[in-house]
Amino acid sequence: MVNLTATDALFLDAWEPVSDLPVWQWVQENIVLGSDSELKRMDFDLVPMHKFCFVKFAEARLRRFTMMVAAQSGKTSVNLGYAAWKVRNKPNDCIWYADNAQKAKTFYKLKILPWLENCSAVKGMIPKARDKKTNTLIQFDSMNLHILGAEAKGNRESVTAFEIWADEYRRWPKGAGTAIDNRFKTIREYKKFVFSTAGDENDELHNEWKSGSQHLFFWTCPHCQHKQTFRFGREATSLYPEARECGGFVWDTNEVTKPSENTYNFPELEKTVRYECENKDCKYRFKYSERFQLIKTLEPIQMNPLADEDNVSVHWWEAYMPWAECAWGKIAVKFIKATYAAKTGDFEPLKVFVTETLGEPWRVPVKAQFTRGKVLERCGDYSVGETWDVQRDLSGRPSVCHVITADIQHGYLYYVMRQVRKLEFGGGSRLIDCGKMPWFDDLRAYQMAKKVDSGCVYLDCAYKPNEVYEACTAFGQWIDCSPLQHKSGRWWTGWRPVTGADNDYFNDVVNGIAIRRPWRDSNRDINIGKSGHARQIRVWEISKSHYRSRLFEYALPGLLPGWEIPQNIPNEYVEQMGHVTKRPKTNASGQVVDEEWHESGRHDFPDCEQFQLAAVDIGGWR
Ligand SMILES: [Zn+2]
Repeated sequence: MVNLTATDALFLDAWEPVSDLPVWQWVQENIVLGSDSELKRMDFDLVPMHKFCFVKFAEARLRRFTMMVAAQSGKTSVNLGYAAWKVRNKPNDCIWYADNAQKAKTFYKLKILPWLENCSAVKGMIPKARDKKTNTLIQFDSMNLHILGAEAKGNRESVTAFEIWADEYRRWPKGAGTAIDNRFKTIREYKKFVFSTAGDENDELHNEWKSGSQHLFFWTCPHCQHKQTFRFGREATSLYPEARECGGFVWDTNEVTKPSENTYNFPELEKTVRYECENKDCKYRFKYSERFQLIKTLEPIQMNPLADEDNVSVHWWEAYMPWAECAWGKIAVKFIKATYAAKTGDFEPLKVFVTETLGEPWRVPVKAQFTRGKVLERCGDYSVGETWDVQRDLSGRPSVCHVITADIQHGYLYYVMRQVRKLEFGGGSRLIDCGKMPWFDDLRAYQMAKKVDSGCVYLDCAYKPNEVYEACTAFGQWIDCSPLQHKSGRWWTGWRPVTGADNDYFNDVVNGIAIRRPWRDSNRDINIGKSGHARQIRVWEISKSHYRSRLFEYALPGLLPGWEIPQNIPNEYVEQMGHVTKRPKTNASGQVVDEEWHESGRHDFPDCEQFQLAAVDIGGWR
């Protein structure tokens, strides 16, 4: 018997013959799940959807696999399990794309590396030398595994691979996925694995999913034998275009679960949550404890008969998952809370529920198409110039705030003035006045007459930016502020230049926390006037698409409570609202691939109203 040194043992381990176990079985035997998992190993009885993925992954013909699923779906574990299997059994160069470089770095450190080190079959293959193991690349003897951010063009063009994983695809920049496809399409063995929570209806992820097999997981009702998926509600959604009469999540609303109009007893409500069979002759209501009986009958069924056989897509969501956080009672409570927020005009929690709990694409509640009558439905019981009374909170702060937004067009300043009321005083935003005036001096005089704070005046600087900057630096000053108020420690008190950007959102860091939001501000150095003396100015950028949507798909349809226009609103305002529409964008075969905003005439007032909605976010006045 020869004593093996540690190095020999690693060497032998690394060169064990390639396994001929099916991928799912290899993963089950070799992968130990991290401490953040409720399971130690993958359990395909509890989560049969994962086994389906591994079986499909292993098919030689597979080219595309798209998982559009809930946040808690085990999607990352499935793809990491496959990655580990590849390193060991079928090595070739691969790229793991996170949506940005920061996420890629964190993911490498906290997920990929510990995951591979935790797998004894792969551990010995991880290079020891530091230069073979950087944040962006692990150089195994047999393959390179790159870990990159998809937002940088260089990362999409400089590296070649046979297989790529596209993590959180919904957050990729527009066109990035297609750019990668075009680059790799000549590689015969190219495989693309997309896995993500859902984004917006008809975005790139949704289209990628639609082009695939659209496998859904059906269970069989033991009482009526009807096969059905878990589907949360009854209304039509992007995934289920037909409404239904019965079926889905149900719960009791009574004096125990909802003691008053605005209070719920969630622990009691959770106990009453059931899943109703969608067969109207059955309507059996399953308890959560019966869930596993249904999971045992799951079978994947392809919903898209036209898909190429090498293009597989799957969907499942939290109701299918065994984790404690995905218990049916918890899901219902998340929904109730999100719906409650939507009633106050905050749709973000509902969007998070749909995209991350249901794993379904978000569909805007109302399509933008505004006739005169529709716009006039927003008329409140007041006339131009009539304001709400000012009240004070306990600290003496006023209940309302006036905001002026203005847009330069064709030698005029179009403006909208609104009064915004704090939520604790009933919320809402009413248009007080709108119109056009010749130039900045007139706007200044108007602002003073109406006693509006300079910091609540927003001027579009997309057109004639230098003149706008000059006007904005004329009335105001820099003052010191706490870094909590602004990270720069400086506050600008004057008019604010604002501009629409093509971004859907911006990444920013606020008080040390990375956030995404539809606006950002940045300080710029500019030269003012003929003397050209340098000054610093703060410019606000807002997402055009976000605030267009907020105006035309939420405010005008009446989904933002208390968002009003006066009875005698000028005709031009009403007409301009009809000039902006959203149109489906189709490809050569007539399939809807995206939607885009379209303007068919002047849109100064819509622009001013978008800035108004942004100003509320920027000022934190909701
Ligand atoms: Zn049934």
